[in-house]
Amino acid sequence: MRADPRDGSRDFSLGFWGQRPSNRASIRRANLGIILRLLRDEGPRSRVRIAGATGLPKPTVTSLVAELVELGLAVEGQTESEGAIGRPGTTVHLDGRTVCGIGTEISADYVSVVVLTMRGDVLHERHQPIAVAEAGVEPVLDLVAALLAECLDRAAESGTRAAGIAVAAHGVVDLVGGRVRYAANLDWHDVEVLDGLRRRLGPAAPVLHLDNDAKLAALAEYLAIKDSDIHDLLYISAGSGIGGGIISGDRLLRGAAGFAGEIGHLPLDPRGRLCVCGRGGCWETMIGLGALLRLADASQEPATGPALASAPTPVPTSAPAPAFDAEQRLAELKRRALAGDGPTRDALHQVATDLGLGLGMLADILNPRAVVLGGYFAHIGDLMLDQVRTIVREHVMAPEAAACEILLSTLGFRAPALGAAHLALEDVYQDPAGYRHPSRTI
Ligand SMILES: [Zn+2]
Repeated sequence: MRADPRDGSRDFSLGFWGQRPSNRASIRRANLGIILRLLRDEGPRSRVRIAGATGLPKPTVTSLVAELVELGLAVEGQTESEGAIGRPGTTVHLDGRTVCGIGTEISADYVSVVVLTMRGDVLHERHQPIAVAEAGVEPVLDLVAALLAECLDRAAESGTRAAGIAVAAHGVVDLVGGRVRYAANLDWHDVEVLDGLRRRLGPAAPVLHLDNDAKLAALAEYLAIKDSDIHDLLYISAGSGIGGGIISGDRLLRGAAGFAGEIGHLPLDPRGRLCVCGRGGCWETMIGLGALLRLADASQEPATGPALASAPTPVPTSAPAPAFDAEQRLAELKRRALAGDGPTRDALHQVATDLGLGLGMLADILNPRAVVLGGYFAHIGDLMLDQVRTIVREHVMAPEAAACEILLSTLGFRAPALGAAHLALEDVYQDPAGYRHPSRTI
């Protein structure tokens, strides 16, 4: 399509997941998806500007837009001027208000779900704290299935069709088999997630997908940034575990076996604390939420407050096991830091230092244009950001060439579920005319 996909905008000739149209007959359908992605990522525009951005002939764009409008995926809006001497043109907007993707995240400490329309409206959202490792696999899948069934009901009530369901899970996942192969923080080994959910949801459930939580969160952040100059992004997922999602040249980097981005277990301190993976001194033990809380709690004062340190948040009786509320504890830590509590500030300083050292290495390896600090950093990272930026600047090999923006996530703990919802909608972008009749099983 484009001679140079980096000439000021993102590359719309390929989907985020990198599939190319496989034969000539599918090219028209793929071009429908290219226009939809352009409208999603860069906003409404006239047919002339769509033609300019995609390289498609204007008559082809006119025909494709008419089909998208008929499918309910695009809508015509206001007129816009196309230059001083050009006639005003009608803008085309992404619509898809009646099509949604359902995303869910299975985290160590909670399960969340979100129903997202193609237009970007959140129709429904739930966040259920649960200690997943202690609860066991079957009760957790029961809970996820119940939350997903509620999502499907809400979508149906609002006259919206679910294009698919996607699950964001910790650890190493088998995309094709729909399994979590190994997730240390969940204590899951070879868990058949998609089969388990299919059995519970029944044959009428939409197509199900599974992917790694940090990779899906990276997708959500990449789409949320809306900066057409950012093609290379490193997302840091920070909860009880640490993960990474790498976008390189507008594509998700998976590596040979899908493990790319497993940065939480980089051995940054060989003599450090024992990690859940069985080794010592992993980066996760230094900058994960557990590390911050441990450092803060090790102070003379109970930095998180005795109630928060010991008592789980009450949850509905349907939940198999309770878990602490991370956002509540982070709010307490932040209050103490802002009040000048020395030990809390020391804990934040230590985590920020270790975060900056690791990011400096990753910046040299990956040369991202932006680093997005997600998960718990979205709640308290503003107190660490200046220090992190300074340390990265001091430690990268070539401060000028490797300069990257270090940003706080705007999505926080919601990012993986939102990314999953985007993945669930990917079937529509892959084949806007045919998604209503999905034939594949996964
Ligand atoms: Zn480890």
